[in-house]
Amino acid sequence: MVEIVSEGNSVLREKAEEVPLFDITSPRIRKIIKEMSKTLARERDGVALAAPQIGESLQIFIVSGNAQNIGKGKPREIKKDLVFINPKLTKLSREKKNLPEGCLSVRFVYGEVARSVKAEITAYDENGKKTKKGVSGLMAQIFQHECDHLEGILFVDKAKKLERISKEEFKKLTHEE
Ligand code: ZN
Repeated sequence: MVEIVSEGNSVLREKAEEVPLFDITSPRIRKIIKEMSKTLARERDGVALAAPQIGESLQIFIVSGNAQNIGKGKPREIKKDLVFINPKLTKLSREKKNLPEGCLSVRFVYGEVARSVKAEITAYDENGKKTKKGVSGLMAQIFQHECDHLEGILFVDKAKKLERISKEEFKKLTHEE
């Protein structure tokens, strides 16, 4: 079982390496993406995960199928995780909002981070196909948080009003349906 790496581990502070294009569909990268999906699926409150968070300094992040359904009423189907390899934020709106944020690698801490309300990303998917996506709201926030991870930046570096909550409060927050 792969564990999520916590703040203080140097891998979270490195600039992650690009995945060579010929390597994207290799067994090694496939395995890493699979481990990321499995690891993220175990976290009830997790919406996305970057490769450095499982100790792999590579430019990969995934967004959970559940996250894609947030705010869209009752999900009919669980979508599969979206995979972003060598992502680049090609556009960020000048308009920003202070949004509450947390991180699976910085447990029990929450804060507000100013994030662009719209973002455009280009990346490769798990099949090596180049994709471009324009998003807003939660997805835009996720893209910015995850791309920060790949630069060695954690949300606590940027957050205001940081708050530490107790394990009991945390349990309440994550175990209610
Ligand atoms: Zn994070």
